[in-house]
Amino acid sequence: MDAAKMWGEEPYYGLGYEFDLQWYLTDEQKDLQERLIKVCHDVIRPEAIRCDETGEYPWKSVEALAEMGLLGCIVPEKWGGRGENHVGLAMIGETITRYGCPSTGVIYMMHMAGLAALLYRAAGNEEILGLLRRLDSDVMVGSASFTDPETGGHFWCPKISGVEKVPGGWKVMKKASFTTSCGHAKWVVAQTTSPDFDGNYANISDFLIYADEMKSDPSLWDVMGMRATISGPVEIDTVLPENRLIGAPGDGAPSNDEAVNAVAMIMYGGLYNGIALSALDLARRYTTRRRHAQYGQAVSDYQITHDTYGHAVIETQASRFFTYGLCQQLDRVTDNGDWTMYETSPEIRLRTPYIWWGIAAKEKACRVASETADSMFHLFGGAAYSRRQEIERVLRDSKAGWIMGPTNEVARGIVGRWALGGYQAVDWWNQKVNEGLLNSELGKLDAEGKRAIIAKLNAELGEKG
Ligand SMILES: Cc1cc2nc3c(=O)[nH]c(=O)nc-3n(C[C@H](O)[C@H](O)[C@H](O)COP(=O)(O)OP(=O)(O)OC[C@H]3O[C@@H](n4cnc5c(N)ncnc54)[C@H](O)[C@@H]3O)c2cc1C
Repeated sequence: MDAAKMWGEEPYYGLGYEFDLQWYLTDEQKDLQERLIKVCHDVIRPEAIRCDETGEYPWKSVEALAEMGLLGCIVPEKWGGRGENHVGLAMIGETITRYGCPSTGVIYMMHMAGLAALLYRAAGNEEILGLLRRLDSDVMVGSASFTDPETGGHFWCPKISGVEKVPGGWKVMKKASFTTSCGHAKWVVAQTTSPDFDGNYANISDFLIYADEMKSDPSLWDVMGMRATISGPVEIDTVLPENRLIGAPGDGAPSNDEAVNAVAMIMYGGLYNGIALSALDLARRYTTRRRHAQYGQAVSDYQITHDTYGHAVIETQASRFFTYGLCQQLDRVTDNGDWTMYETSPEIRLRTPYIWWGIAAKEKACRVASETADSMFHLFGGAAYSRRQEIERVLRDSKAGWIMGPTNEVARGIVGRWALGGYQAVDWWNQKVNEGLLNSELGKLDAEGKRAIIAKLNAELGEKG
């Protein structure tokens, strides 16, 4: 049995280690978890409360993560990091949001999403390798600038973007409607169409952009939750040197499957499971202390509370199993989270076969966090509205995962199409013609309507009717 979980000098008020999936962790990871809980107590949680009120970016918390070597923790040892695996990364995300700050968790997740794209094609790129070595020492927090204003949660479809080959580099243009750490990130990975783009949105590329090469508008982030993430819009219109292209032109789609999504989805899992746990922990603290004089009972003594709480514990643990189980499998197939194999085998696809599992882990964790925060909120009665109890902040923060890309509706649609019709049915870039629907709609037209369509198509093809 592990030692008692501590919160500063006191025993932890929430669920103890007997409710944690410690058997997934190595001794080193358990030690890291314990040190991170302490940093959450001392720095990240107080900053979460303060920054939620002021809307400030939680720099102190990001610096604390860098001090622990966590900004570069998944960087292979060969490239200056310590090669943390997928299980460890999910645990770090879960720990940050559970004991510390959901906003800092999202900042960490988007940093890791960008970092995954860099690691995938770091081999042979001195610019990227140089950045990897400075992540923690220079607090080089980064982000991923993907979501396009016109295509929204289908963030792999960068409509308002373009790249042109110019002498010595690339002219890159991109608009992103959301970028976490907006105005604070020291670098971002931005996804655009490729230099030879011809209308096929599967042909996309990634670029490394530094802070002074983009226009950020953090003031537009005026929101109900995840306030400290500062996920405002970003605009890029700049000329970059050759080596800022990450990998080869057209590498964006494989990078999404093998790197960015693979890491982001397990991080969604870790983060939002952590948020569900933080709601459970706060509700445990409150319901065991709040007593009703007329019955001589605490709220935690009522049977309805047992039912509500037990249901939420079971749902949350199922979601944690899902995330950790997937992480363990990713560790198995990647030699424990290694990123250096792409140097000799750039075409190898190790994480890609698990992409729908990742999307499912995201959907499950974000749904469980939202539902658990709701049900725990109700257990507080009117006290739930008090900032002092913190559950209202957790409730507001818990809602973000569901609406982040792929939104839970889009995530379920992908999994459902894949499960029913096979991978091709997913149709990521909306390229397949739905002939049944097309013919059905054409069948509704009269002769005049059909002629109008023929004329329009002929005009498009440049042919005479
Ligand atoms: C806190 C926060 C931080 C973020 N950080 C980043 C970041 O760092 N980088 C980044 O690139 N993005 C980021 N985003 C954006 C995020 O990942 C999503 O892309 C974004 O939230 C989607 O919002 P939207 O308004 O564009 O939604 P839309 O995509 O317009 O969705 C609107 C509604 O339509 C539904 N919908 C859409 N398509 C379908 C469909 N085919 N079938 C059924 N329903 C559909 C959606 O589920 C939703 O209910 C962030 C968002 C938040 C809230």
